[in-house]
Amino acid sequence: MKIVIAGAGDMGSHLAKMLSGNGHDITVIDSDQKLLADVGNLADVITVEGDSTTFAVLRRASVRKCDLFIAVNHEENDNVVAAMLAKKPGARKSIARIDNNEYLEPNNKEMFIEMGIDYLFYPEKVAARDFEQEKHFEGCMPVEALAARGERTLAFGPLKPVGFTDPRTGKRPFAILQLRPENGNKTMFNLVGCQTKLTYAAQAECFRRVPGLERADFVRFGSMHRNTYVNAPLALTEELALRTRPHIHLAGQITGVEGYVESIACGLWVGLMLSATLSGGSLSRPPATTALGALLNHLATPAKHFQPSNVHFGLMPEPDVRVKKKERKQWYADRARAAFAAWLEATGV
Ligand SMILES: Cc1cc2nc3c(=O)[nH]c(=O)nc-3n(C[C@H](O)[C@H](O)[C@H](O)COP(=O)(O)OP(=O)(O)OC[C@H]3O[C@@H](n4cnc5c(N)ncnc54)[C@H](O)[C@@H]3O)c2cc1C
Repeated sequence: MKIVIAGAGDMGSHLAKMLSGNGHDITVIDSDQKLLADVGNLADVITVEGDSTTFAVLRRASVRKCDLFIAVNHEENDNVVAAMLAKKPGARKSIARIDNNEYLEPNNKEMFIEMGIDYLFYPEKVAARDFEQEKHFEGCMPVEALAARGERTLAFGPLKPVGFTDPRTGKRPFAILQLRPENGNKTMFNLVGCQTKLTYAAQAECFRRVPGLERADFVRFGSMHRNTYVNAPLALTEELALRTRPHIHLAGQITGVEGYVESIACGLWVGLMLSATLSGGSLSRPPATTALGALLNHLATPAKHFQPSNVHFGLMPEPDVRVKKKERKQWYADRARAAFAAWLEATGV
């Protein structure tokens, strides 16, 4: 199928990658050269630089020959216009992403169909399907779910001002919101700890109340992510192979580890272990007293309701000697370092 995607942002590039991987012939339009270069590196696509709300650019993208036109620009209005215009030269079906739920009401929907837009979609309103029962991982709770627990919960959670002093008062602030740069020029920021399921309109209203963000331009609104993982103790062997398909090994988050470092470490171990096996040798797991060993142990420990886990001291075996409570973490870390060094030496990794 020939598919033209207008918009090389997150959603556009994700679609381009997914659809080109499925063998479709993909063209991506965007006026941002950098976004186009990124999507070009990510997927096998043709890129067209320019404004997808103009006939000239749509012609350059050969929409007249396309089976499907998908408009997922940042601006809803651009999507509506682009999807409408694409129909004129001959796109067989056109789809526009919108931010306004009102458009989906039956009467309004008809009007869009008359305008030539076959389908509108509003991603925030895509309801969780039955099998996607909402179970929140404690470390990734939606900010509104935390706020609902109590008036001050956020101030003790993601907004806790650890290590910060307000330079204007010299005092520790009541709460802070961390802004993490999203690009090198520091023109876009991520609101750390503000994962949310609120509608776009509610997010804009709520986050603009934060002092300093009154006039913020929201480039991308938040949404929840779903974690897909297997019931590792039942489904995986010690080598993290599927019990039913022992030639398939899993690594990273899908095994039930959670977090960047944990996923990388798990993947590294699986890679090294497979490399050793393929060369006729073997590689043991690091001992359970190490962070990685404790995490891999978690994947092998039967549990009634197996849940993904970050690495934490609770996964490690208790000290076998008396250690004062406030010295425990250091003690665990020292023991882990020594055990890991011994494992490295013994295995030659
Ligand atoms: C919004 C968000 C914020 C996060 N913040 C943090 C944080 O601050 N700190 C932290 O430690 N962790 C954080 N995490 C968790 C962290 O991102 C994950 O634990 C980690 O990235 C998992 O790494 P992974 O390589 O195992 O899986 P992923 O990063 O999910 O990689 C899996 C890859 O497989 C690809 N894939 C999927 N299906 C197929 C298929 N059928 N064929 C081919 N490829 C496929 C996917 O496209 C993807 O590239 C966050 C997660 C999210 C979603």
